Amino acid sequence: MIRGPRLVLLGKQGAGKGTQAARLSERYGIAHVATGDLFRAAAAAGTPAGIEAERYMNRGDLVPDNLVFQIVAERFAEGGPLEHGFVLDGFPRTRRQAEKLEAALETHPLDLVINLDVPTEIVLDRLAGRRVCESCGTTYHVSAPPKNDWICDVCGGRVVQREDDTEEAVLRRLELYDEETVPIIDFYRKLGKLVVVDGVGESDDVFARLVAQVEQRVQPLQT
Ligand SMILES: [Zn+2]
Repeated sequence: MIRGPRLVLLGKQGAGKGTQAARLSERYGIAHVATGDLFRAAAAAGTPAGIEAERYMNRGDLVPDNLVFQIVAERFAEGGPLEHGFVLDGFPRTRRQAEKLEAALETHPLDLVINLDVPTEIVLDRLAGRRVCESCGTTYHVSAPPKNDWICDVCGGRVVQREDDTEEAVLRRLELYDEETVPIIDFYRKLGKLVVVDGVGESDDVFARLVAQVEQRVQPLQT
């Protein structure tokens, strides 16, 4: 039986990781396991783990490892991503999570861990230049504003910069990301599973680079 690849996609906020993970999921017919979405869905469904995770997120804290694993395990129990392949997006976030994941996936090991690399100054411009409609959530960029004086083209609402999109706030998040992620990259490099893909450029070009790496490194895609 042909199976899909088992992937982890690492990347800074603003690197386009979510978009590319969704495209990989579609291309290979594999599950897109985005932990942010999983936490929100679990919270909305009112599961005990979901409600607890929501409390941490509302305080701006990281969700603790045990809770993350519980929620991811629930997702993996549902539809068989272990057998059919998956792309993890937003997880693991710490070296400890990476080690636990490696142990948990013993019989279905990861094929490839991709670091989607975009320089800090580029994501900083993307994120700090972002403006959002207060009413409908449509996003703009200072380089592509709405037609009239920061009035939303879609709904006429006010278009503003969110507090957590200021340059200072974005830089703080990016620094935290680096602190957490350098040890993860190190861990997977030592296992021989890491590949770095240039994430700068048009979405289609970046996707083509990702696919080339997956098809070169994950062969044959069979159980
Ligand atoms: Zn709007």
